[in-house]
Amino acid sequence: MRVLVLGAGVAGVSVAYHLWRDGHEVTVLDREAGPGQGSSFGNAGGLCPGFAGPWAAPGMPGKVLRMALQRHAPVRFSVRPDVERLLWVAKWLDQCKAARFRINKARMQRVAHYSMRCMQELIDHVPGLSFDYHSSGTLQLLETDQELELAHLASRTLDSFQVPWRMMGRDEAVALEPSLQAGDSTWKGALYLPGDASGDSSRFCTGLADYIASHGVSFHYGVSATRLVQAGGRLTGIEVTNAGQRERWEADACIVALGCQASALLSTVGLRIPVYPLKGYSITIPITDAEAAPRMAIMDEHNKIMLTRLGDRLRVAGMAELVGYDLTLHPDRTALLSKLTRRLLPRGLDFSAASPWAGLRPMTPDGPPILGATPLKGLYLNAGHGSNGWTQACGTGRLVADAVSGRPPAIDMDGLTAERFGMKAWA
Ligand SMILES: Cc1cc2nc3c(=O)[nH]c(=O)nc-3n(C[C@H](O)[C@H](O)[C@H](O)COP(=O)(O)OP(=O)(O)OC[C@H]3O[C@@H](n4cnc5c(N)ncnc54)[C@H](O)[C@@H]3O)c2cc1C
Repeated sequence: MRVLVLGAGVAGVSVAYHLWRDGHEVTVLDREAGPGQGSSFGNAGGLCPGFAGPWAAPGMPGKVLRMALQRHAPVRFSVRPDVERLLWVAKWLDQCKAARFRINKARMQRVAHYSMRCMQELIDHVPGLSFDYHSSGTLQLLETDQELELAHLASRTLDSFQVPWRMMGRDEAVALEPSLQAGDSTWKGALYLPGDASGDSSRFCTGLADYIASHGVSFHYGVSATRLVQAGGRLTGIEVTNAGQRERWEADACIVALGCQASALLSTVGLRIPVYPLKGYSITIPITDAEAAPRMAIMDEHNKIMLTRLGDRLRVAGMAELVGYDLTLHPDRTALLSKLTRRLLPRGLDFSAASPWAGLRPMTPDGPPILGATPLKGLYLNAGHGSNGWTQACGTGRLVADAVSGRPPAIDMDGLTAERFGMKAWA
């Protein structure tokens, strides 16, 4: 089959890899100059299936409001009226009930753990794929009694997925991760998840795209998808802008993997999915003293920032802003990331050479991604990866390729398709 993949982020490149392995003739396009330039560029780099869970959780609306009132709030939202945002927030509030949270968390865990298995297979299959992959676990630092209590509760879910974990006091955590010795942050204990990993998703996109391109997958950059084209209930192709020219590209199947832009393109054929951006920031800091830098990924739960070592760099990411599609890089936000990092890791980093970045998490209101067929024959989705897209990408790529190739998926797809938003797949 001739398959078009729209978007060369982690979602697009991963599905292209699996489609290529299934023997399809695959073409990938992206409006940027190369792969992994959107949300997949500067994310935290955490491959943390144990943390995969919805932002829609009991008590979360109150917590978000309280956080937004703090002086250096990790959470911000715009009060300007925006119908798309209001509709998304209404759906999100509805998902914050305890019963919904449990269902959504289980669905996200199902995808995330499956995805880690798929990533391992992919690493074994693609020779020399190098993306600063590191599998030495995550240490979640806990400061308040409430954070400690919530971590104990979360560990029960981890048991149900056979995820190894260990709760520990500050001394034991510092013995495990000595780089934390020098900091003056006031965390009390930690949850250690030895099975977690980290890696640079942008380098992953570049490396994997190069590999499949060398095996016949064709990549086109600087090409914007502007409209889906249908006839008689079937997708027949897409319209694109390529070097200022409007062109029509034909395909037997098309996968929308456009991150936060998926909803806009689907609306050109009257389909609606609730994917809305949640902005975040990161800084990438050169490591000047390898001995003083962390070995494992660190999640500072109190300040909601994640720190991962990517080779000779430290990536620090966090913040959540509901401000639409605006990608303005606000210096006060990245300065706050630097300040919080210095408190944890005062040594071995060249803060003066840190590179700042802002990106958008393509969020669904309930949390899980939206995968597979749509009402339009030949049109598939690999969208709504939210704050876990890097962790999920290898698995969701495989699941969408399963749908295209007519192979039964290895995991239950209940709650992972567009059907939960009232969009039936074609019969
Ligand atoms: C601050 C931050 C920290 C994060 N940390 C983590 C983490 O630690 N672990 C984790 O698992 N996830 C994390 N995430 C989430 C993760 O980065 C995303 O879920 C993931 O990158 C989404 O991948 P994607 O391929 O769907 O989207 P993108 O990477 O955005 O890819 C979409 C592509 O489509 C292209 N495109 C868009 N519109 C068009 C068009 N009309 N025509 C052609 N091309 C188009 C874009 O150029 C882009 O390349 C984080 C996100 C942020 C913002």
